[in-house]
Amino acid sequence: MTHHVSSFVSGEWTGGSGVLHEVLDPTTGAVAALVHGGGVDLAASVGAARAVGPSLKAMTFHERALMLKSLAKYLTQHTSEVYVDYASSGATMADARVDVEGGIQVLSVYANIGLKEMPSDTIVVDGDAESLIGNPGFVGQTVYTSRPGIAVLINAFNFPVWGMLEKLAPAFLAGLPVIVKPATTTAHLAEIVARQIVESGILPPGSFQFLAGSARELLDHLGVGDYVSVTGSAATAATLRANPAITQRGVLLNAEADSLNATVLGPDAASEQDEFTLFTKAVAREMTSKSGQKCTSIRRVLVPREQVPLVIEALRAQLAKVVIGDPREEGTHMGPLVSADHRADVVTAVRILMTEADVVVGGPDLDVAPDGAADINGYFAPTVLLARESNGAAVHTVEAFGPVVTIIPFDSPSDLVALVGRGEGSLVASVVSNDPQFVREVVRSIAPWHGRVLVVNRDIARGSAPHGAVLPQLIHGGPGRAGGGEELGGRRAVLHLLQATSVASSATMGVSITDRWNAGARQLEPAVHPFRLHLEDLRLGDTLHTGRRLVTIEDIEHFAHFTGDTFYAHMDEAAAAASPIFTGRVAHGYFVLAAAAGLFVDPDPGPVLANVGLDNLRFVQPVYPGDEIKVRLTAKHKALRAGASWGEVTWDVEVTNQRDEVCAAYDIITVNACRGDQPTDA
Ligand code: NAP
Repeated sequence: MTHHVSSFVSGEWTGGSGVLHEVLDPTTGAVAALVHGGGVDLAASVGAARAVGPSLKAMTFHERALMLKSLAKYLTQHTSEVYVDYASSGATMADARVDVEGGIQVLSVYANIGLKEMPSDTIVVDGDAESLIGNPGFVGQTVYTSRPGIAVLINAFNFPVWGMLEKLAPAFLAGLPVIVKPATTTAHLAEIVARQIVESGILPPGSFQFLAGSARELLDHLGVGDYVSVTGSAATAATLRANPAITQRGVLLNAEADSLNATVLGPDAASEQDEFTLFTKAVAREMTSKSGQKCTSIRRVLVPREQVPLVIEALRAQLAKVVIGDPREEGTHMGPLVSADHRADVVTAVRILMTEADVVVGGPDLDVAPDGAADINGYFAPTVLLARESNGAAVHTVEAFGPVVTIIPFDSPSDLVALVGRGEGSLVASVVSNDPQFVREVVRSIAPWHGRVLVVNRDIARGSAPHGAVLPQLIHGGPGRAGGGEELGGRRAVLHLLQATSVASSATMGVSITDRWNAGARQLEPAVHPFRLHLEDLRLGDTLHTGRRLVTIEDIEHFAHFTGDTFYAHMDEAAAAASPIFTGRVAHGYFVLAAAAGLFVDPDPGPVLANVGLDNLRFVQPVYPGDEIKVRLTAKHKALRAGASWGEVTWDVEVTNQRDEVCAAYDIITVNACRGDQPTDA
């Protein structure tokens, strides 16, 4: 039965109406799916997303991250269905796994980022408050908050599952209800996973919708506070950039567009070197995985001029080993392009490239379709071109979105850097060299043109990710032609979707706004030692001022011999005095920390269960024998651990001497028990 692709809008699956688009299997020519051109109530879809917005944004990052974690688990258990149909897009099982498992992996990574790197709060506070205009009582802080709108996520055809999930994860974490618009050519694959997302019931109703079909008027319903992320060609990105929603109504657009990604062979990598083989294998692999239909695939192969013949020879040998065939057949390395139409686009692009370059392997006229393939199919031979002029226009700007690369000779590192820049901004470049000087010069120079740079040498011949692998912890996106976006990249991808706002206020008011005590804010005097307070009872600003401790030369001697730290500054009066830092023997910084703990701890068990760390430590000035130190300890921040009966408390600690000069400043983090007899609200 033919797969009719449906949309999930306003809580219901709907078939849509309008012109039917036939998705044809690029091997067999059979109809793989039918997608309606429209007929979906776009206003209702946007309305449903807006309706859930406030409740989604009221959740903490941890609550949303836990949902992503559950979703990743659910999808892992339910993905088998998507593989059944996957070869209808021309992709092999290996390609399919990268899409499906890779997509689920992105969900898991973002769930972990949400739980470990984002606060258990609805806002992110960026660093400590800073006093302004020299007044400690007047402070500024940057906060990141969820935008008021929704996210429209428009995907390219090549990664129907990963593309959907890689955008969904940071957007959902940022509190944005999402409407996913898949590319029509592979919407039937995206729909299978979209159904699983809906069936899981994990995401709040309205927070995930799926819009098959062209949906060209979708942006008409968007306004300020909304966000559109598009992955597609530079032409599509340019069209959307010109849309009045973007130009006039303040909708934020993130474009992940096409890119003429370069790989560079270092002049040191002669054919007998490991790097030469790593390079040619990587080029062949990137050309043929997903039939070269990856935004990150290598398009430009920059090679020292004298190495060009050897590189061609090696690539010819590598590509001869590639088994091209029906992706359903075991042993097939490379299937067809996604459609016969797309094949025609690639042929057109290669013919333009051929005005500046010669075909040295493959070519558009070579028929590589296997026996039994339809007359009109998507098969395209892996093709290597050699640029006649390294400085041509087409070889640096025309993307053939298939198994096609152009070798571009270079004569010097500066020549190379200029040629890489001719791509006008790319997602990724790789540099294959074992020469640290060359790598340093090239990476520093080409970095501004890229979202990511991979350096390959023999040290990571095993155990590294390939050129085309998009890792959720690293930036995916790139400047200029690549779209200017930054849609992946760990925590920074989530921050990118939040609104940054500077808030200036009185220091004490700042505590109420951000739930973080700052040094200019009011100190509170608890009735008991603050270590005796459960998480719920501890107030931000609760402060302990300790008594004094005299630091003696005996303390320093004892600490030095006890720990083995006999550094000159603690042991040798003359040497210490001769240093530009000290006037004589000084106490160990770690002694000061230990002595400070001795002054501020309350020794009895609980509610403070453990000290789990120390942040932002600075030894501001030396402590000399005869100095008297004392401590101020203030509750700075409380974070209840989701689902646990305890949380973390950050304490602002300042150690001062008898002249009230700061000797050491730091944050300590303790684990504190909740009272447990009433709901916790940290
Ligand atoms: P495409 O033709 O540009 O289409 C991309 C998406 O945009 C599709 O969902 C398409 O919908 C939609 N679209 C096109 N015009 C639109 C409009 N006016 N309003 C709203 N939506 C619109 O790209 P593709 O052929 O699917 O993918 C191949 C291209 O994507 C290549 O150039 C590749 O380099 C690029 N790509 C980039 C990345 C990246 O991360 N930078 C990743 C993958 C692919 P329909 O399908 O319904 O037309």
